[in-house]
Formats: sequence, structure tokens, C-alpha cells
Amino acid sequence: QSTSPVAVGDQVFFEIDEKESDLMGIITEVLERKNYIVRKSVNLSKQIHIIASNIDQVFLIITLNNPTTLSGFIDRLLVTAEAYQIPAYLLFNKIDSYNKQELKELRELKSIYDNIGYQTFEISAKEGWNIDKIKVLMRNKVIMFSGHSGVGKSTLINSIAPGMNLKTGAISNQHHQGTHTTTFAEMFNLSEGIKIIDTPGIKGFGVVDMSEDEIGNYYPEFKRLKVSCKFNNCLHYKEPQCAILKAVKDGAIAKSRYNNYLQMLAKENNYRI
Ligand code: GDP
Ligand code: ZN
Repeated sequence: QSTSPVAVGDQVFFEIDEKESDLMGIITEVLERKNYIVRKSVNLSKQIHIIASNIDQVFLIITLNNPTTLSGFIDRLLVTAEAYQIPAYLLFNKIDSYNKQELKELRELKSIYDNIGYQTFEISAKEGWNIDKIKVLMRNKVIMFSGHSGVGKSTLINSIAPGMNLKTGAISNQHHQGTHTTTFAEMFNLSEGIKIIDTPGIKGFGVVDMSEDEIGNYYPEFKRLKVSCKFNNCLHYKEPQCAILKAVKDGAIAKSRYNNYLQMLAKENNYRI
């Protein structure tokens, strides 16, 4: 049950109301959504609130520190994107601001996702580094920006489309929190058919219900190996002759990825861990 008749990103039919002096349209039909992100209603009813729909790609913006992006957040977002079959790109922002040690740490994190096969980019929204590369990917697409407050989402939109002049920094974040107690999304129509959905206050997708045996299917590096698990319903938890557990031990699968998988499994299945 959804509380939202129309959401940002919806494709609709509408009729022009000729009687109005200003051009007014009345929505007569919302076309079927190919996907949508949800947020559960705050009240106790099981209703969901559709925040945005028809997303072609998600760009996850990551910073090492200032603010810190935890790998658990990255992996949950990626699992959800896989579940929705939305391609995800990882943008490591503020590359201009890191010292040598931080850069090393950042590249270690990035290599985990490179190895799985995700497309990752080192960018500086502020300095305009590598923006041309990601802009090409964004052409004629509806894109959701995801990432913690302060990672540089507004700065990136400004860098892609300098005419936008979005407010950036701590003040605008406070503004969002202060005035908009309910969640909302807005879509920016940029040049070259780039449409960016920004969801202030929302870090990523809403809650998705998944069964425990589903989660592993949304880990591409698990999916490739799991045919070699002894049991075909293996949850890669403590089962004997599990190919995933072996790969974690051998270092072929990143420990952080596996640990975050266990976290997600535990959430789905409270009695287990
Ligand atoms: P948002 O909350 O994700 O929209 O983040 P903002 O775009 O408002 O950026 C938060 C702060 O980070 C601002 O002070 C920006 O100037 C700064 N920032 C954003 N991108 C970069 C970058 O590439 N490098 C550096 N050094 N600072 C950045
Ligand atoms: Zn297994």
C-alpha cells in the first residue's frame, strides 16, 4: 500500500485545463514504474512512501573522512541496487583533499570494488577532476545520487552543470533538515538529457524486504562462486565446504564485504547471529 499517488521520476499522462489563465495540467494516469525507492511511513501502518521512481543509474558518492563513509553503508546500497537491477557507480570524491596515507587507504577501499567489477572513479567535485568522464555516463539517464550528507552531492551537481548554483555546505544541510521534516525528492534537468534525483536527508534506498537466501545473490563475487558450495541452499555462514568461506579465507573475497554480508543476514534473521 503506497501513500504517494505521484512521485518524482513518474511518467504521467495529463490533460491541459484550458479554463485556467496559467497553463495547468491535471494528471490523469501514472504509467507503471520500472522501479522506485521507498521509505516506510513513520506511523505504524505498513504503508510505504514512494520517494522517487524510474531510476536508470545510482551514483554513490563516497568520502574516506569528512564525512566517513562506512563500507557497511556502501555494501547495503549496492545490494539494494542489485536487487532493483539498477547499475551502480562508485565515485570517490574530494580526492584533492587527501594526504598520502589517506590516499592509500582510499585506494585500498576502491580496489575492493574494482575487483568485483564495479565501475569506480576518483573525482574532485570541487576541482572538476574526472567530471567529464562521469558526465558521459550520465547522458540521457535518470540518476539517483546517494551518499552521506556532506560528501559533495550538491557540489557535484554544480560541477556538472555550473548554471545550477546549488547551495553547498553545512548551512544548506541544516536548512534541509530544518524546513523539510517530511522526506522529499527533487529532479534536476541538466543539459545533455542528464536528470539527477537528489533526495536530501535520504542516504540511499529505503527499506527493502529481502529473504536471507536472496542477499548473497546481490553480491556479484558470491554469485560467481556459489555453484561450488557443497549445499545449493548454502548461506555461506557456517556450512561445510562453502566456496565463499574458503574465498574469504584465501583473500579472494574481501573480509569487509563478507562481514557486511553477515550483518545483513543477521538483520533479516535475528535468531541466527
Ligand atoms: P552534500 O551534502 O552531499 O550536498 O555536500 P556539499 O556539496 O554541500 O559539500 C559539503 C562540503 O564539502 C562543502 O564545504 C564542499 O565545498 C565540500 N566539497 C565538496 N566536494 C569537494 C571536493 O571535491 N573537494 C573538497 N576539498 N571539498 C569538497
Ligand atoms: Zn557457501
